[in-house]
Amino acid sequence: MDRFETRSIHAGQSPDADTGAVMPSIQLSTTFEQDAPGEDRGFEYARTGNPTRGALEANLASLEGGSHGRAFASGMAAIDAVLHTLEAGDRVVAGNDVYGGTHRLLTQVYDRHDLAVDFVDVTDLDALDAAMTPDTELLWLESPTNPLLSVVDVDGASDVAHEYDAVCAVDNTFATPYLQRPLELGADVVCHSLTKYLGGHSDVVGGALLTDDPDLDEQFGFVQNAAGGTPGPFESFLVLRGTKTLPVRMDRHCENANTLAEWLADHDAVERVYYPGLDSHPGHEVAAEQMDDFGGMVSVELDATLEETSEMVAATDVFTLAESLGGVESLIEQPAAMTHQAIPREERLDAGLRDGLVRFSVGLEHVEDLRADLEQAIESTIVE
Ligand SMILES: *Cc1c(COP(=O)(O)O)cnc(C)c1O
Repeated sequence: MDRFETRSIHAGQSPDADTGAVMPSIQLSTTFEQDAPGEDRGFEYARTGNPTRGALEANLASLEGGSHGRAFASGMAAIDAVLHTLEAGDRVVAGNDVYGGTHRLLTQVYDRHDLAVDFVDVTDLDALDAAMTPDTELLWLESPTNPLLSVVDVDGASDVAHEYDAVCAVDNTFATPYLQRPLELGADVVCHSLTKYLGGHSDVVGGALLTDDPDLDEQFGFVQNAAGGTPGPFESFLVLRGTKTLPVRMDRHCENANTLAEWLADHDAVERVYYPGLDSHPGHEVAAEQMDDFGGMVSVELDATLEETSEMVAATDVFTLAESLGGVESLIEQPAAMTHQAIPREERLDAGLRDGLVRFSVGLEHVEDLRADLEQAIESTIVE
């Protein structure tokens, strides 16, 4: 099989047999001619299957090292499709700091359908083992997590899931398949928000599920068609365009993030840096084992009040104050006031999300411009 960089450009796509067009077409047709009743040429109706989406699904499956892929209208629609395969009375074990939207879906939608969820510190495999029950059908993991960049031993955690005959699913949005391939580490399903690094340019919303298990893929395909949360052809094209440059973008995201993390770790106004690439990070060794590099997300705890921190994140020029992540441009946000603001303060503090916490999605600008921008924002707002 070709190497990652080659597959990111070619997997799922070849020049059009009729026209020679090098790039996949954005196929808008909603219906496809049949040669005889019930005899189609691979496509019949665009919710069920579309050539542009099909190319994307094959491309993503190849990058994650899976045999099957399904694309969805958003990361949440992909996660929802996994949960739709469960039955009332089933239990789910999930990491205690999973993406907020995943937490909301589990606790505010699926609890009404009698799905029970146990949130656990999955960095502790003994705690994970203790939370598993014979009714647990799904283990839901993220690594690294948001916004504290905790690292979960995917190999160890999937072994625990399998002892209980549960499916192990990993949301690989933060790492991307260029840096970490959960299926190779023993997971059964990989989930993505394509909105982040895979799309890569902050201009498309999408999701995907990748697996090596034909039974799981069939169930996901059934939900995809039955519930209809599919991406359009233009969205599929944009993500395909994004994955072509994923390796070169990720290399620079990692390089810039590492440079900033090391610099911030020595900065007087910074109490703590969360970056799995630093030796001081508690998950550094596991990350070094299971990842090829440490990613573009960095969080820091400033020695500052909630108000000072709000002023600091608003004082940057190159970093844009905004939620989301994974685009070419650098973003800055304050979890306590933005992405995690819905969590009551006491609960938030218990989870380690302090008032001075700042999260960076480090982009592809020149790293010296990024460093200078953070320096001026810290200097002009944080009273030492
Ligand atoms: C953004 C995100 C999601 C949700 O994806 P959408 O495309 O916004 O629906 C899920 N998991 C993680 C880790 C994310 O960052």
